[in-house]
Amino acid sequence: MHELSIAESLIEMIEENALTHDFKKVIKITLEIGVLAGIEKSALLFCFDAAAKNSLAEGAELVIQDKLAKGICQHCHQPIITSSWYEPCRFCGQMRIKIIDGEQMIIKSLQVEN
Ligand SMILES: [Zn+2]
Repeated sequence: MHELSIAESLIEMIEENALTHDFKKVIKITLEIGVLAGIEKSALLFCFDAAAKNSLAEGAELVIQDKLAKGICQHCHQPIITSSWYEPCRFCGQMRIKIIDGEQMIIKSLQVEN
């Protein structure tokens, strides 16, 4: 399952953070996921609990926020906010939107305990 490897790399990112910022336990993680990242939120929540076992994030609360995607219309050059790969430009109606943001997953905040 794709979400399991995402959950595992999330734990790795948190563990690296723990080394640089010197904390021992994570209580809450807020993630921001681009709507075009192709990540199934319920699957990620489920996998996270498994991946977090015996790590410093065990039992931590995972909060996922959606981030809408951004694109530029290649035809009329208007910036577009979208939630799908295949949507016509709302200004000129052309299907020529180039996505420039919305495929990332970032850790927005970590609530930790020393
Ligand atoms: Zn357009």
